[in-house]
Amino acid sequence: MSDVVVHRFDAVIVGAGGAGLMAALQTSAYANVAVLSKLYPTRSHTGAAQGGIGAALGNVEEDHWEWHMFDTVKGGDYLSDQDAVEIMCRDAIDTVYELEHRGLPFNRTPDGRIDQRRFGGHTRNFGEAPVRRACYAADRTGHMILQTLYQQCIKARVNFFNEYHVLDLILSEGRVAGVVARDIQTGGLHVFHCKVVIFGTGGYGRAFKITSNSLAGTGDGVAICYRAGIPLEDVEFYQFHPTGMYRMGFLITEGARGEGAILINGLGERFMERYAPTLKDLAPRDLVSRCMYNEIREGRGINGEDYLYLDLTHLGREVVEAKLPDITEFVRVYFGIDPATTPVPVQPTAHYAMGGIPTDLDGRVVIDEANTPVPGLYAAGECACVSVHGANRLGTNSLVDIIVFGRRAGRDALRFIQQNEAPPLPADAADRARAQVNHFLNGESAEPVANVREDLRSTMMDLASVVRTAQGLTECLSRLRQIRERYLRTRPGDRGNTFNTDLLETIEVGYLIDISEVLATSALARTESRGAHFREDFPERNDRDWLKHTLAYNRDGRIELRYKPVRITTFQPKARTY
Ligand SMILES: Cc1cc2nc3c(=O)[nH]c(=O)nc-3n(C[C@H](O)[C@H](O)[C@H](O)COP(=O)(O)OP(=O)(O)OC[C@H]3O[C@@H](n4cnc5c(N)ncnc54)[C@H](O)[C@@H]3O)c2cc1C
Repeated sequence: MSDVVVHRFDAVIVGAGGAGLMAALQTSAYANVAVLSKLYPTRSHTGAAQGGIGAALGNVEEDHWEWHMFDTVKGGDYLSDQDAVEIMCRDAIDTVYELEHRGLPFNRTPDGRIDQRRFGGHTRNFGEAPVRRACYAADRTGHMILQTLYQQCIKARVNFFNEYHVLDLILSEGRVAGVVARDIQTGGLHVFHCKVVIFGTGGYGRAFKITSNSLAGTGDGVAICYRAGIPLEDVEFYQFHPTGMYRMGFLITEGARGEGAILINGLGERFMERYAPTLKDLAPRDLVSRCMYNEIREGRGINGEDYLYLDLTHLGREVVEAKLPDITEFVRVYFGIDPATTPVPVQPTAHYAMGGIPTDLDGRVVIDEANTPVPGLYAAGECACVSVHGANRLGTNSLVDIIVFGRRAGRDALRFIQQNEAPPLPADAADRARAQVNHFLNGESAEPVANVREDLRSTMMDLASVVRTAQGLTECLSRLRQIRERYLRTRPGDRGNTFNTDLLETIEVGYLIDISEVLATSALARTESRGAHFREDFPERNDRDWLKHTLAYNRDGRIELRYKPVRITTFQPKARTY
């Protein structure tokens, strides 16, 4: 490994979003910890989160964590593991106060407490009416969380390796031994030898043509674990957020509807009243996205086209500008319209991965139906599947998830560090990563990877998004096979070592292809509709056969599907009405 720099730490955290930074804060005071991030930390996608973080503080009206738990389980179409949901909803309260004490500038009520607003699927008294549960900092909640945690990490002297692209996970004798990363600035390979690896690498919305996710949302950690033999859980459940800006996908927070905005079709009708008489526009995202799809398909889009309006005009300029300043700015810049006076064209946008790397309640990555942990391997945040969100996540619950489970993963990792030694570093630790880099840098074909990527994203959008069929998913898998063949023959235009973002993007496309295949295969097998997974040919939920989690294994490139039971503690599955 003469071309490789070797570093030694107790723990390596891959990812500097909310989950990674929270885990770093837990571990760094008592252990030698490195955080590796392909982005400068404050550019992580957590910083783009707008609307809020959910916690039953009850600051503006009565609320209880049990109600939050019920809404989360029902919103997830009963696929969530309820012991995990209970932990999340209980801990949410304490967590929000921890963020406040660490310096997060939340919006305030007139008497100085943290203000709260409505969000989709969050209700009072087990479904009676919307409740104000989302704590927020205007429409920049994630930005404030990320800045707060990053400042705290600087104060705690966490070791950051910024712009390091992790390419591989090193396992030795079934245990974690470290990761391999490429320094983006120089192209140098680095091996991090350690006792614990925590993945907090975020989601994979870039697999779809229309998405709210930033460019870095390419599922790296998920695919790296999958390639290393870890199964992926529930990847067929991918959420589309109802209000993406038409054709661009940039998000308009659900907080807009929380403040009173409504969806309108081409007849000027508030169509959600027909589909969800109680919660209307604040029904969960899977339902609203499907209703929008239906309106458009039946010719009731705006001017018969494939978009609808989000109408904020009745809210008044003061509310729009004070509570939703960032999205007001986006709409002005990208559409050239003023949302305070003109309705905004929207369409569903790929937003959030419910599935991912399977973990237990302490963030330990597990590899089978019996929840057997891989010693030293952890995951938290959007890349992980605990599973709290089940088949569909409620708005504001991801920010809770990353903080609560980032913290738990960090704490358990510390216990592990104190009780264990790192296994020896295998001599071939960097070989796979080096071979991957060389394969592309020395490739012969000249098809730009961007073509392959755009075909991938259109394929997933057309055949595996809001509505799915057996025929469409079969076609999707056959196209993905061709896309993979073309992909393996691409090469980056830039062959250099310094800031070779061409190479970085090429590697990312490979991660997206792997995950897309798992998504389509798992979706084809699941012959029911549940949460965000809607099969037009199997439109009903089928608890008898399908109340179970998918586990997809990589068997030398072939996908094997197995299943594990859902943990139901308090709320028995019921039909979902809103
Ligand atoms: C526009 C938008 C608005 C949202 N609004 C809300 C909201 O209001 N409320 C809510 O609850 N949720 C919201 N979400 C969802 C939520 O923001 C995300 O799910 C969550 O922030 C993910 O956090 P994370 O820590 O898991 O990962 P991220 O914040 O995505 O961070 C991932 C980190 O991993 C690093 N990384 C990835 N791959 C590699 C690699 N190969 N090598 C090294 N580093 C790597 C990146 O550099 C980055 O630091 C929103 C999402 C979007 C896109």
